[in-house]
Amino acid sequence: MTQLTDIKSLTLPELQSYITGCGFPKFRAAQIHDWLSKGAADFDEMKNLPAAMRAQLKTSCYISVATIEKKQVSRYDKTVKYLFSFRDGECVEAVVMHYHHGESVCISTQVGCKMGCTFCATGKSGFSRSLTASEMLAQIEAAGRDLNVRISNVVLMGMGEPLDNFDNVVRFIELAGDEKGLCIGARHITLSTCGIVPKIYELAQRRLQINLAVSLHAPNDAIRSKTMPIAKAYPMEQLLKACRDYFDATGRRVTFEYSLIHNVNDSDACADELGRKLRGMNCHVNLIPVNAVEGTGYQKSNVQRQQSFANILAGYGVTATVRRTLGSDIDASCGQLRRKHIKEEKDKGGI
Ligand code: SAH
Ligand code: SF4
Repeated sequence: MTQLTDIKSLTLPELQSYITGCGFPKFRAAQIHDWLSKGAADFDEMKNLPAAMRAQLKTSCYISVATIEKKQVSRYDKTVKYLFSFRDGECVEAVVMHYHHGESVCISTQVGCKMGCTFCATGKSGFSRSLTASEMLAQIEAAGRDLNVRISNVVLMGMGEPLDNFDNVVRFIELAGDEKGLCIGARHITLSTCGIVPKIYELAQRRLQINLAVSLHAPNDAIRSKTMPIAKAYPMEQLLKACRDYFDATGRRVTFEYSLIHNVNDSDACADELGRKLRGMNCHVNLIPVNAVEGTGYQKSNVQRQQSFANILAGYGVTATVRRTLGSDIDASCGQLRRKHIKEEKDKGGI
């Protein structure tokens, strides 16, 4: 079987060479690009293309779409969670959050994840495949269309490790900025990584204006490697150096994600050690009470603990914000909904 071309993952120059390579005039590429930017899901929608051309494209290309399999709306806030499927039946999650400054969507970059963090529902369900750039775009388009809103910010904090799918993620960032399409500039995109050090350097070289978030979740390697296997490959000292170098190269402040887990990483001593390590660094810490995922045995730290942790960091001049957990009633921690869906299908004898 010949492989179909993922036409929506092509940049305009790539599309031009593809279209001329098929024997069509170059201007057709701009027409197709316009349609794809507007979210066309089928070549038959491209009315200004000759019927024969549409028919030929259908045999050689496909247009990625994200189909809504499930949708959950939080009763507490306007958070909406989607389970999307792609053409091969694989499913990922995305969450739309409503903030004062606009609509933000958290999208997935892989089906599952290889990194195996012990607190994470995605990490617990293994890895299936990486997403293409067009599949990342399709999640944003599908959510925006369904809610009839313009999505202004994107966070790559859904399922998967973005830096383990480097080329497709960088391509996605480039395509998301398309003025005729989503028009979401790099400054409105946040990439979260568990800390694959060489890839942070590679990212710095690209000089993208994205926001970089790094999942720390511990003040030292001993605690970090208990929950994050990646810590064994890249010690914290190397990781923090990569973050400092990232700031030097890009001028972009790094954010650290720190999920507070009761009796694991939330003591005053942990805060103290973290404060000492981050002191003087151009960074911000997001403290997130861990979402208790079934089967992990982890519990959230209480509010007093959260505050005490933040206060100790402040004592070192490290700014920290305790984040609200949005959509706590809708399995909004990524990976939870897909896990549930797979279990339901299995129970039905579906897969
Ligand atoms: N793989 C990337 C991005 C996806 S995970 C990363 O790890 O950074 C997005 C964020 O959610 C990460 O900071 C991750 O540590 C966090 N996370 C995963 N499971 C969580 C849970 N149960 N509770 C709170 N945060 C969680
Ligand atoms: Fe993967 Fe991120 Fe989950 Fe770790 S926290 S398993 S890196 S998705």
